[in-house]
Amino acid sequence: MKTKVLWGKDLAQEVIQRVASQIKVLKTTVGRMPGLAVVLVGNDPPSQIYVSHKTRACERAGIRSLGHHLSSHTTMEEILYLIQRLNTQEEVDGILVQLPLPPHLNQSKILGSIDPNKDVDGFHPYNMGKLSLGEESIAPCTPKGVMALLDYYGIPVEGREVVVVGASNIVGKPLALMLVNRMATVTICHIMTKDLAIHTQRAEIVFTATGVPHLVKRDMVREGAIIVDIGISRKQGKIVGDADFQGLQGWARAITPVPGGVGPMTVAMLMENTLQAFRMRARTR
Ligand code: NAD
Repeated sequence: MKTKVLWGKDLAQEVIQRVASQIKVLKTTVGRMPGLAVVLVGNDPPSQIYVSHKTRACERAGIRSLGHHLSSHTTMEEILYLIQRLNTQEEVDGILVQLPLPPHLNQSKILGSIDPNKDVDGFHPYNMGKLSLGEESIAPCTPKGVMALLDYYGIPVEGREVVVVGASNIVGKPLALMLVNRMATVTICHIMTKDLAIHTQRAEIVFTATGVPHLVKRDMVREGAIIVDIGISRKQGKIVGDADFQGLQGWARAITPVPGGVGPMTVAMLMENTLQAFRMRARTR
């Protein structure tokens, strides 16, 4: 079986161009371009890279990015004060706090302090609650990007047996909710799952988001399975995913590459979410 590679790079460019043309039109009626505040705390190198990707995407989409780079010693009071200010600033439509935060900061309190209408990462309990009810919301970018990728390649999930490996609040859980909202039969696995392979072997589509390099191997999935690899880690200086990409060639029906698969889609969905927030705020003005 020839394994199809599900690239996300070109689709992400298309999405950003579509967002840019919609912003061009909307800008004339609203009288300004959308604004995205990006809050980065500390000097974590991968976070700095992710923020620079997001800033570059903003330039292409016609979004004004407003960077706030805070020291790693920033206190809760300081960051909460900044978010309160951003919540009320007219020209700010979206607020993104780059994760992970330094351990002395209370992540859930910080994410919960963002105005849900400006919560372009979709991590606020209000937006997560809407997602779990299957109602329209600002949805987390990575799982939303996964769903957009499946739609683009014409891969339906309705009625299918799927497994999500990884149960974090920002990837695994919201992805599982999106899949169940689309009527897939969903199993969620995590670090305490006793025999991962029993579950992954049953799946028609395996989604993996653990950060464990090459966790999902050929003998753990059925022939013809589709593998959606969300993990990003470094192995011997190279960026790799959770799936053994080489070993799955000729066995899986399709697989997303790392890099170049889900990663670029995450950034594209952030641009879509910022446009969505801009539109919502323009409507209520
Ligand atoms: P996390 O550490 O918060 O969660 C990891 C999850 O994987 C947990 O639920 C844990 O129980 C599970 N897990 C860990 N080891 C496991 C194992 N051996 N077997 C089964 N489950 C296991 O991480 P996260 O923030 O959800 O990110 C997961 C991965 O996705 C990371 O590699 C991250 O870099 C990547 N990521 C990619 C994008 C993207 O745009 N492609 C976006 C966000 C995160």
